[in-house]
Amino acid sequence: MSEHLEDAEVHQLVTKWSSRVRPLGFYPDVNTGGPLALAYTMLGLVGEVGEWNTKLLDYAQAAKTPRDARDLAAQQELGDIFWYLDALSYEVQIGFKVMEPEGLAGVLQAGLISESLTLIEHLGRIAEIIKKHLRDGTNKHWIQVLNHIRGLADMFIQLAEEQWGPEVIPKVLELNAEKLLSRAARGALGGSGDSR
Ligand SMILES: [Mg+2]
Repeated sequence: MSEHLEDAEVHQLVTKWSSRVRPLGFYPDVNTGGPLALAYTMLGLVGEVGEWNTKLLDYAQAAKTPRDARDLAAQQELGDIFWYLDALSYEVQIGFKVMEPEGLAGVLQAGLISESLTLIEHLGRIAEIIKKHLRDGTNKHWIQVLNHIRGLADMFIQLAEEQWGPEVIPKVLELNAEKLLSRAARGALGGSGDSR
């Protein structure tokens, strides 16, 4: 078995998953590309990357937690990261008026270049571009912001596959869809906490 999924397979998985979870977007000015939507999804992405990092630190510290439980917690945070990468991609594509909004699937499809930067560099550069767009309305850096989103997506896919193997990506997306659809059915998309 191959050690990683092909780009086309990831694209197909992300397209299907996004069609299930994207309609559950619950935040200010969703799907407008407006300032609140751009800022919210950027902040959400940073928050989830922080949660992912906390779960990784838990790995080292919480040796008493069963391995399966630790893996599941980290994989759920990974799903949250993908969700915000998808949401941010939509908002950038709409707000910068640069392409048909296709979310993360569009980013994976569009032949964007994934620069080999660190996680914090990608996040910082996205934040800078969005900040300037909010301040000046400048649209000229749209391709860079999508390149950095692509870079983050590639980075997290690679990290996950190295840790758990290629079968983890479909699992992460399924976990995320189940969690969000369950919250939607219970009217619990607002609020906070992993287990609501
Ligand atoms: Mg989370």
